[in-house]
Amino acid sequence: MNKNENQKFDVVVVGTGNAALCSAVAAKENGMNVLILERGPKEKRGGNSFFTDGAIRFAYQDKHALKPILSHLTSEDFAKISMPEYQEADFHQDIISVTEGKSDPELSKQLVEKSYETIQWMKQQGVAFELNENQSFDNNGVQQFWGGLPVKTYRKGIGLVEALFQKLESLGVEIRYDARAVQLETANNKVSGVIVEENGVRKEIQAKSVVLACGGFEANKEKRMKYLGKEWGEAIVRGSEFNTGDGLDMAMKAGAQPYGDWSSCHAHTTDFQAPKVGDYKKPGDIYKKSSYPLGLIVNANGERFVDEGADFRNYTYAKYGKETLRQPKQKAFQLFDEQVRPLLRAEYHLEEATCIKANSIEELAEKMGVDKNKFLETVRDYNDAVQGGEYNPAIKDGKGTKGITPPKSNWALSFQKAPFYAYPVTCGITFTFGGIQASKYSEVLDENQKPIPGLFAAGEMIGGLFYGNYPGGSGLMSGAVFGKLAGESAASYVQQFAKAISE
Ligand SMILES: Cc1cc2nc3c(=O)[nH]c(=O)nc-3n(C[C@H](O)[C@H](O)[C@H](O)COP(=O)(O)OP(=O)(O)OC[C@H]3O[C@@H](n4cnc5c(N)ncnc54)[C@H](O)[C@@H]3O)c2cc1C
Repeated sequence: MNKNENQKFDVVVVGTGNAALCSAVAAKENGMNVLILERGPKEKRGGNSFFTDGAIRFAYQDKHALKPILSHLTSEDFAKISMPEYQEADFHQDIISVTEGKSDPELSKQLVEKSYETIQWMKQQGVAFELNENQSFDNNGVQQFWGGLPVKTYRKGIGLVEALFQKLESLGVEIRYDARAVQLETANNKVSGVIVEENGVRKEIQAKSVVLACGGFEANKEKRMKYLGKEWGEAIVRGSEFNTGDGLDMAMKAGAQPYGDWSSCHAHTTDFQAPKVGDYKKPGDIYKKSSYPLGLIVNANGERFVDEGADFRNYTYAKYGKETLRQPKQKAFQLFDEQVRPLLRAEYHLEEATCIKANSIEELAEKMGVDKNKFLETVRDYNDAVQGGEYNPAIKDGKGTKGITPPKSNWALSFQKAPFYAYPVTCGITFTFGGIQASKYSEVLDENQKPIPGLFAAGEMIGGLFYGNYPGGSGLMSGAVFGKLAGESAASYVQQFAKAISE
């Protein structure tokens, strides 16, 4: 193994996703000499963060609190927008309810309480934001937002990582590509560096501290099958091919504790024809299919298997992706009739969207290749079960079904108006929930819950926040909050460490 250059870095950050980039900016802003290591080549940088839709969740008082973040909007623009408040208590309650109360209280509190100041900090670093139109409906000329997620990064994940790379470039931070971190080095019980593989050669890079922000194990088929279940071997990987769990292995070898929900992950119903791993030439999360609360979902047997209208898509899509994987042939169809088709999200109208169209329900069944009789029975039973009430996709309207299992709890309209549309979908894994244990300041903890000196983590690598499900848009916010904190904590550790040596 080569002993690398004599240079010793204050902070080595592993990864170039949102969490890593935020942590590198924060460390540099705090006076650190920072190096970033990226496993992929330059053209495949940015991790899962690059592939995102850019939806980012934070707590805010009311729509006026969005003004500093959406500074390009005028007062007239704001006058045409309506949205419910989304206070810290609301964000926190969303985490509690989707994780069934299992989220680590300290970590989730930190995520929520730091969310608003962190989004302002991101803006100061050059990240631009825009309204998340997907989360709104036109209500007589007023844009009505719902679901606590009214903002996304400008130009989705592409714009997010581009802005952070630009910031780091302006700060003169070095990034090494094709540099896979494989092992942490320690001396006197402190992290002292990282072993990196570059062009097949192993080198040691000396560092006073290391921030691991190199994702979960979603792109590792063996690990998926081992921890999530055999069926996960077949899942499409929606994002980076490089998140194979290296960081988790390295951290645990250095004494970190596995933490959180290792048997579950975030998944999404994804176009059946989507590429098997994220295609860097087609980012922007174009293969997901999120408008199912407006329609019906059936499996290849022609049977419904989830309550499509249990809640807004933000709170169910992660769970329903997984349910799809459990269905025959890991396949399902999202169904819409002409009444709701104009309300479908943009991804349904892209040329990449696989769509089956038919003028009758019988013809639709034939084209889908499902059990026709069963399918017709499913639709008939559903139509018979639809109850009255006022249909309103902007709120949980309570217009549901009665007497069928599973029910459709909101937004239940009869499936009756031709033409009819079916979108074949399967399950795409987004990221894994299991990680390592970290403090609320992003310090990696050992078996005694004590910080491992010099080791920090952020983003997908931190376990304990999400269990079974997560509120949409929390992944980017978690990466930003704990990424920034990891950079700051590493800087403060290095300053103390330097002081201790000089004393
Ligand atoms: C298609 C898609 C859409 C999504 N949409 C949203 C959304 O709209 N909102 C939201 O909040 N979340 C979304 N997510 C989830 C979100 O991407 C993640 O929660 C978040 O980006 C994770 O950030 P991260 O920095 O922890 O990891 P990543 O962004 O995945 O970064 C990990 C980095 O580590 C690098 N790496 C891995 N191993 C090594 C190694 N050994 N050495 C060096 N580098 C290594 C990778 O190449 C990568 O650069 C989406 C994810 C996908 C895939």
